[in-house]
Amino acid sequence: MPGRILIIDTVATNRIVLKVKMLAARFVVDACVSKQEAMTIIAENRPDLILMNLSDAVDDQHSLCHELRRTPETAAISIIAVGVADTSQARFAALDAGADDVLPHPVNDALLLARIRSMLRVHSTHEELQLREGTSRALGFEENKNGFDGATKVAVLSVRGPMETAVTLNLRKYLRGVIHSIEPYAVLQLDDAQAAHDLFVINATTVDAGRSGLFGLVSDLRARAQTRQAMQLVMVPKDKPEIAAMFLDLGADDVVPETSDAAEIALRAKRLIARKRKHDKLRDTLRNGLNAAVTDPLTGLFNRRYVEPHLARLADQSRKSGRELAVMMIDIDHFKAVNDTHGHAAGDQVLIELADRLRENLRAIDLVARMGGEEFLVAMPGTSVTDARLAADRLRALVNTMPFELGSDLPDIKVTVSIGLAVSGQIKPETAAINKICAQADKALYAAKSGGRDQVAMSKSAA
Ligand code: GH3
Ligand code: MG
Ligand code: MG
Repeated sequence: MPGRILIIDTVATNRIVLKVKMLAARFVVDACVSKQEAMTIIAENRPDLILMNLSDAVDDQHSLCHELRRTPETAAISIIAVGVADTSQARFAALDAGADDVLPHPVNDALLLARIRSMLRVHSTHEELQLREGTSRALGFEENKNGFDGATKVAVLSVRGPMETAVTLNLRKYLRGVIHSIEPYAVLQLDDAQAAHDLFVINATTVDAGRSGLFGLVSDLRARAQTRQAMQLVMVPKDKPEIAAMFLDLGADDVVPETSDAAEIALRAKRLIARKRKHDKLRDTLRNGLNAAVTDPLTGLFNRRYVEPHLARLADQSRKSGRELAVMMIDIDHFKAVNDTHGHAAGDQVLIELADRLRENLRAIDLVARMGGEEFLVAMPGTSVTDARLAADRLRALVNTMPFELGSDLPDIKVTVSIGLAVSGQIKPETAAINKICAQADKALYAAKSGGRDQVAMSKSAA
């Protein structure tokens, strides 16, 4: 994984030692001493990650760390604090200053590299989501503002015992939301809704050998659709950096030594939950954006952009199953007159009402779309000529027998539609076939219009 790393340390030998290690791991490396220098380097060559000496002796570095976090341009750069005394208090101070992680002195190389890989992985996910969100925004899709996030759900995965109780109770003291414990492997048996969590706290403090089922659990949770997005915090035995490194490489988001105090574990848990929420939000915006791209805002029906690929899939299905596919083109009669007589808003109301009637009277597998203006398309898979004809007559009656309400100060009006219908026989395996059915439905619609409107016309030929 290529990446650019900035080393900030006042001691020359520290800088050199770290730089050599990073160069050996094929990173691009810059190194500097002061805040000024750091700011210049960041402005010119933005690093993906910063390794910063945050030993107690150098107080100035803590304030630089704070500042990097507060500045919007640098807030997203991952920071690993090195040179920190191996006490919970010192680690807490570094985390509190804004470091994403703390590696105590002397630093273990395997753990440092695993940590860097893990952070760069998070960093690139984050950048990708940001980028896509930016595209969604540029296309005019707003962030999902109905910001109810739901309760935080945390599961402590630990074999039953005093440790499980202590961890769970401590987290409950610091975090809000549902915090419960589950037998480590039972989590893989839960159904989708039960398996969804913001954070798994995995107790791996008794892992001592190089082999443990918990390694598999971490990668299993990472691989499954229901648990893939959940954060993982693994509690690891103290002084076993190679085990911590292994968990990080398998997909854990953070590791914490068993000797850490409750406040530190809770702080790490809180940050992971915040990261998960942020990613969820970005993903939501993206999903909403994609939905918006294929949905007609007035009626909520699919738009023309959605129709083409979906029809191609329906045609493919039809070819495989040997069952017919029916396509209807539905156009409101003399719709211009509705606008001219009652106003554009009344016209909109008719479109909304018609969309509702169509949607409510078709099966879930049928496709209903607004092709533009006052023209709609309905595609019904697995529908014979006879059934399609019945369905078209039913839809027509659904419109012309019940007047449309336009609102309190306008009269109800009678609306009629003309429908052109085409049903595929054998769909041929070329994409042109689907265009052909649509063209036939279009032609039939034209016939229904010239035949006097408020009627269904059937295409003569099959695709
Ligand atoms: P026909 O029976 O031949 O289909 O006649 P028509 O009046 O329905 O057809 P025409 O194509 O002449 O007019 C369609 C009208 O639909 C013109 C346009 O202003 C109106 N229209 C298109 N989109 C919208 C919309 O989103 N809202 C409203 N209110 N009117 C729309
Ligand atoms: Mg019309
Ligand atoms: Mg029209």
